[in-house]
Amino acid sequence: MRFISLLATFAAVILSIVLGFATYNDSKDIDRYEKEIEIYMQQQQSYQAEIDIVSPQIEEAIAEKTVLEQDIAAIKKRIIYKTQPTAFLTFDDGTSYNTLKILDILKANNIKATFFVVGTQILNGGSASKEAIQRIVDEGHVLAIHAYEHEYSKIYSSAEAYFEDFNKIADLLYEMTGFKPNIVRLPSGTASARSFCGKYAGSTDVYYDIISKLYADGYTVIDWNVDTVDYTTSTGVDKIVENAVSGAKTRLSREYKAAVILMHDTADTVSALQRVIDGVEDLGMGFEVLVKGGYVTRQIAETEKP
Ligand SMILES: [Zn+2]
Repeated sequence: MRFISLLATFAAVILSIVLGFATYNDSKDIDRYEKEIEIYMQQQQSYQAEIDIVSPQIEEAIAEKTVLEQDIAAIKKRIIYKTQPTAFLTFDDGTSYNTLKILDILKANNIKATFFVVGTQILNGGSASKEAIQRIVDEGHVLAIHAYEHEYSKIYSSAEAYFEDFNKIADLLYEMTGFKPNIVRLPSGTASARSFCGKYAGSTDVYYDIISKLYADGYTVIDWNVDTVDYTTSTGVDKIVENAVSGAKTRLSREYKAAVILMHDTADTVSALQRVIDGVEDLGMGFEVLVKGGYVTRQIAETEKP
């Protein structure tokens, strides 16, 4: 009996030592795991901090890549004009009954052109003006923004005034066609627009504000490099033809053999147009429309204030 009780006591002592040791070991493990977790959490936080720093840099790099890709696409689109002589017929200040005649001539010659239209002209021109807008779109020409009111003292009096007018013509064209133009020609061209801003807004800075916002909003501003001087009846049909053809010819010796020919929505232009087309074609030039990312000519190249 004594032996059995002694054995039981011994067993109890051994068990308590083993259990105690196990518990001691468990708590040591927990301590170790907790420390490991703490280190892991600290690493996690420092990784997150690094991610927070790097993420915007990655986004910036992707945005830069997108801009560069667009630039490369634009350069690829333009480089073709170094070897391929091309004329861009542009008609400002429409639309009217004259535009319908211009469209008929273009159709007969299977040529597409670019129309920089004026809001008050569209609204005051009755059904012919509205029909012309629809035909410009339906017949594959480019509908582009000129102004709602072709009034220099008004639109160039401030950037706000310019964009109030700009939004009116953009909205009108969208309402009429469901199409949002992305090509813009400033009334009187960029060089005169800058002077007018100096005159009517009191600072040429306003011009740069206008042009930077147009570009930031995704519009392309295009002037011309051949002036037919058809906005005044004193020029006459023969001289319009001569101005267009001789102007286009001078572009053939330039780096980019591209002639952006400025014409207007006038009766004399209608009378001159077939001869202009024939004369330009005889120079070996093809005809294209102005497009965003395509050929651009600007009197003032900078969008930023000098
Ligand atoms: Zn104009």
